[in-house]
Amino acid sequence: MSTLVTGIAELVTNDPALGSGPLGLMEEAALVVDDGVVAWVGPAASAPGADARVDVGGRAVIPGFVDSHAHLVFAGDRAAEFEARMSGARYDGGGIASTVAATRAASDDALRGRLRGLIAEMRAQGTTTVEVKSGYGLTVDDEARALRLAAEITPETTFLGAHVVPAEYSGRVDDYVDLVTGPMLAACAPHARWIDVFCEPASAHAFDGDAARAVLAAGRDAGLGLRVHANQLSAGPGVRLAVELGAASADHCTHLTDADVDALAGGSTVATLLPGVEFSTRSPYPDARRLLDAGATVALATDCNPGSCFTSSMAFCLALAVREMRLTPAEALWAATAGGAAALRRPDVGRLAPGARADLAVVDAPSFVHLAYRPGVPLVRTLELPGRP
Ligand SMILES: [Zn+2]
Repeated sequence: MSTLVTGIAELVTNDPALGSGPLGLMEEAALVVDDGVVAWVGPAASAPGADARVDVGGRAVIPGFVDSHAHLVFAGDRAAEFEARMSGARYDGGGIASTVAATRAASDDALRGRLRGLIAEMRAQGTTTVEVKSGYGLTVDDEARALRLAAEITPETTFLGAHVVPAEYSGRVDDYVDLVTGPMLAACAPHARWIDVFCEPASAHAFDGDAARAVLAAGRDAGLGLRVHANQLSAGPGVRLAVELGAASADHCTHLTDADVDALAGGSTVATLLPGVEFSTRSPYPDARRLLDAGATVALATDCNPGSCFTSSMAFCLALAVREMRLTPAEALWAATAGGAAALRRPDVGRLAPGARADLAVVDAPSFVHLAYRPGVPLVRTLELPGRP
């Protein structure tokens, strides 16, 4: 079944061959979707026929957001921790233990219900691809369970057994790394595409460079792609390790040295920035301009999680990137769509050109610029097309 989408005042294709600038912008455009794939893009005046027709009434259409970093399999609530932080307490990752306890105690149905609720919340706000990490189980069975549940709703599943060292392994990091790289990895790899590690020597709860290297090497040997929580709380070894090992993404990048910036600019690793975390922890933002000016590929994601940033809104993160990190609106939109796709090594999403997945989002405005111009206003939603599940 084919559908003609018309009435598009401004179409963001992210394909410079199709329109102007890096976003490949087209005005008064139309697009034909066939069997879930973009079949044709061009001026509305020369649009071909189709089985069905959707008129978006003079609005902007963008590629659905690609949220390449989220922690959505969890139970419990940490509003009180947020309140304490906003009253002056410092964030160091220690509150993760409370989510771990609640998640271990939750039923499959409870976890599934929360996960699906968050996915629906994201989709309603224009996010059409989302990566989901484990990391709140931290036992062989609980991590495998989280990934099994995540794999029900996305192919972008990430094994994060090395999120923090659980309380029962306190003072025995090496033993826990052995568990993560041994039986836990064996149980989780069948349900995961990626492996990730919270590399943060500055945190008493996370992993240093040697432990992170061991986790990533084991994951790579098991056939998983690599991602790293890197340089969030301090300028540690995470970013350079990610680039050295060819990770798809180094996430956070809040504290970077010149060598880190050079490594990201010279390698194939995407710098994924998560400004909702800095917003929600009252921390300094990453220097996105420095990364872009050096030539690094930058992605934006939510890091949606119950502790350090509980927003599911990519539009909010985009507005933060523009206002607080001095990205242009176009750079921010690219990072939230094509950048996320690059961070997940997914050529089929994050763009609207023939052959790409027909993941469309509609902005209730004549231009995508309104996403940053009108922060906090729910302007963007996923366009649900007829005949598509
Ligand atoms: Zn994270």
